[in-house]
Amino acid sequence: MNLKNLETCKGLIKGSYVDQAIQGTSQFNKLLETLLIHKKLPNIGYNDKIIELILNEISMMDSNNFIENIGVGEREGRIYSGLVEKRHYGFAHGIGRSGDITEQQPKAAGSSLIQKLTHSLVLDAMKLAGLEQSSLSNCLLLPMATGMTLTLTMLTLKSQQSQSNKRYVLWPRIDQKSCLKSIITAGLIPIVIPNILEGDMIRTDLNILEEKIKELGVDNILCVFSTTSCFAPRVPDKIIEISEICKRYNIGHIINNAYGLQCSKILNNISQACKLGRVDAFIQSTDKNFMVPVGGAIISGPNKEFIDQIARNYPGRANSSPILDVFITLLSMGKQGWLDLLKERKELLIYFNEKLSTLASQFNERLLNTINENKISFALTLSSKILNNTTQDKEITTIGDFKNSFSFSMIGSKLFSRSCSGSRVIDLETNKKAIIGGIEFNNYGSHIENYSTSYLTVACAIGITKIEIDTFIQRLSKLFKQQK
Ligand SMILES: *Cc1c(COP(=O)(O)O)cnc(C)c1O
Repeated sequence: MNLKNLETCKGLIKGSYVDQAIQGTSQFNKLLETLLIHKKLPNIGYNDKIIELILNEISMMDSNNFIENIGVGEREGRIYSGLVEKRHYGFAHGIGRSGDITEQQPKAAGSSLIQKLTHSLVLDAMKLAGLEQSSLSNCLLLPMATGMTLTLTMLTLKSQQSQSNKRYVLWPRIDQKSCLKSIITAGLIPIVIPNILEGDMIRTDLNILEEKIKELGVDNILCVFSTTSCFAPRVPDKIIEISEICKRYNIGHIINNAYGLQCSKILNNISQACKLGRVDAFIQSTDKNFMVPVGGAIISGPNKEFIDQIARNYPGRANSSPILDVFITLLSMGKQGWLDLLKERKELLIYFNEKLSTLASQFNERLLNTINENKISFALTLSSKILNNTTQDKEITTIGDFKNSFSFSMIGSKLFSRSCSGSRVIDLETNKKAIIGGIEFNNYGSHIENYSTSYLTVACAIGITKIEIDTFIQRLSKLFKQQK
């Protein structure tokens, strides 16, 4: 209620009571004012009721919610279902106009405000997570997952006039299909840069990368596509060195930072890469970093003009709910909640590492030594002993039977059937060839041709709890006991 209406209430109820109520409601207005002025995460997250009040107030600013509005256009934000209306807090106009996804909508001041505020909140969250200001010229939250957003980013790079003949994308191998598809769907040609081994770790081969640049010629190369977040034993690409190479040869550099916002080491490296070399953009998923449903990705980078160009290249309007999800979530977490989540993950990483090492040694397996470089994912060896021992107490009738009954991948499916999701088994006993986007890969899934052992991967991702880790270790241990 505004002040005038509150004063009018004095004709209905005691003035002193109304004065108290004015104090109460002004506390809410103060919160809103702080948010509008500072555009930063609130120190302590807001409760759901306050967030809903904010959403309802802002939603009233969109024309489809004006009490006296009559819509005579072809897009009036009409919502048939009350459930759908509720699910979106009455926001129906989406974001952007046909010329620019960040352009403000005359019919939807509220939606435009949410988009603007969310971009500021995301920038604040990224800074709090450890990125330096100089690498965060701006950000763009799009309602597409990471793969599609990578495609749009590469297409924008290509659309810049001088880049138009450049078709090659140098891509240090990462066995994640959306990465490769994002290049192919952009109509570009991926050049696989095979990785090298360094101890247990699978790493970027900078020599081959540079050789390929010379071989293909800088005039034909659009960019290097590097990746920071990946399953162990692959570790994040050497993005600082890559950015320096890209600067030296004047070729683009796009970093796939899918779930890297939760890891300060990765963010440090991105900041350094932006400072020392060339980074055109880094892209991260909203669901993997901010605990919202799948549907959004964030583009950021040191060059504001490039980010703005991507916004201008986006054809048409877009759905705003992935933005609303992030807006709600960041208001709900607040600065403290976000920092606590990041800190807890860091602490649990050490805990998970210890637990897995102990479990590994109990069963004569080994936790692969990748923790210094990969601070999100772990890999635990699966030795053939597990298979040999199980074959002893089972009768084998056919070779097919043998293969099906005792492949390591059973461990993955058994874990899944015991309600443990997310672990992956890489079985190198059976060399899996895969053709993706017309390119053949040996041992697809393992990021390299011939790794020395089969293994199981798990991740210590944001939001995981100690209880989940303990329960997982119990279940895995039980499974190994049955196997060995
Ligand atoms: C999740 C992920 C992607 C993108 O997948 P989307 O489904 O498009 O979000 C790309 N690369 C890696 C390493 C990922 O983990």
